[in-house]
Amino acid sequence: MTLPDVTDTVSSLRDRVAAWRSAGLGIALVPTMGALHEGHLALARRAREVADRVVVSIFVNPKQFGPAEDFERYPRAEAQDRALLAGLADLVFAPSPARMYPPGFSTTVSVEGPSAGFEGDARPGHFDGMTTVVTKLFLQAAPDIAVFGEKDWQQLQVVRRLVRDLDLPLRILAHPVVRDEHGLALSSRNARLSADELALARRLNVVLAEARDELRRGRPVEEALAAGRRELAELGFGPLDYLALVDGDTIAPLRSLDGEAKARLLVAVRLGPVRLLDNLEVPGPGSGA
Ligand code: AMP
Repeated sequence: MTLPDVTDTVSSLRDRVAAWRSAGLGIALVPTMGALHEGHLALARRAREVADRVVVSIFVNPKQFGPAEDFERYPRAEAQDRALLAGLADLVFAPSPARMYPPGFSTTVSVEGPSAGFEGDARPGHFDGMTTVVTKLFLQAAPDIAVFGEKDWQQLQVVRRLVRDLDLPLRILAHPVVRDEHGLALSSRNARLSADELALARRLNVVLAEARDELRRGRPVEEALAAGRRELAELGFGPLDYLALVDGDTIAPLRSLDGEAKARLLVAVRLGPVRLLDNLEVPGPGSGA
């Protein structure tokens, strides 16, 4: 299968996209930080289904990493990523940080609302960095559709808010979380887990599913969450950043499930060298789902 072309300049990205557009073709963008796994590839496959041409961006965005975070150590695998995208992407856009943020770069795109709390608290500045780069990517690639994973649920809601607030002329398409055969949400950072840590990480989705089931049985929210937190500690997970029930659109914490069509459990917990993120829909009690 043909390898996708790779470009690191905005002008050649724009030239390619303009040529496709003048041929009447629809374009989808899949923003990633590379070190691609089956979760990313599922997004690219979805993009192929909904558009004629697919651009995958690979950019480890320094602005969305805190000073104590793993920007330098974040996995990078350019050649392997390109091979994995054969037949899935038409173009890989892989700019350098210096090209994205030339000297004197002074602009921040900041979204309030759904970026408050949770990842917003745990990673100060993270969402500003993310929304700034995503806005740039949207303006650079000018896609009709951008595909994001539900793995980063809060991020997805922040991006949806950004697109609505700024009337950006594209549609956001969400793809469900891609999991391994034990239910662990795939993540580029999982490669750092030891065998024991991996076995434990695979319990996280089980704890989430138990909390969901308890909530649907009518257990009070704080009780169900407290039981989940206790269980994570007892199983041997590291410090918990949050386990919470939120409105899936606004990310506002929920105190009860009554009448909530869009409740979502969010969790972030440390385990050895990584922070595991996951989330699960909690259908309302009467929904029959
Ligand atoms: P990242 O490279 O981690 O920034 O992720 C790029 C995109 O892939 C984001 O929209 C993520 O939500 C999505 N993604 C990452 N892992 C998964 C997964 N396991 N399932 C679905 N989407 C994912």
